[in-house]
Amino acid sequence: MKKIPPFKLEKIPLSVESKNLPGFKWADENIGSRNKLGGEPDFIQGEDVPICEDCKKRMTFYAQLDSINDEYCIADCGMIYVFMCFECNNVKSIIQSN
Ligand SMILES: [Zn+2]
Repeated sequence: MKKIPPFKLEKIPLSVESKNLPGFKWADENIGSRNKLGGEPDFIQGEDVPICEDCKKRMTFYAQLDSINDEYCIADCGMIYVFMCFECNNVKSIIQSN
């Protein structure tokens, strides 16, 4: 399994609408800024690395995408985790939440 070195992804608004989007009312301070590429997934509910459906190997963690605000909230302040198999070009994503 290929492993990607970690990158922090910063949420930079690209429009006036996104710049003026209200944040979370009650969520913890770090929620909304946990976006990243590579490294290790910050699982909320425990490890859940998918297996590639073709080669049956563990898939590479590619990215995690955080909830944006109360309007664009992934379940209960959760995240989307994206995995990839570089050999078969398969992708799988999962959601974990509080
Ligand atoms: Zn594969």
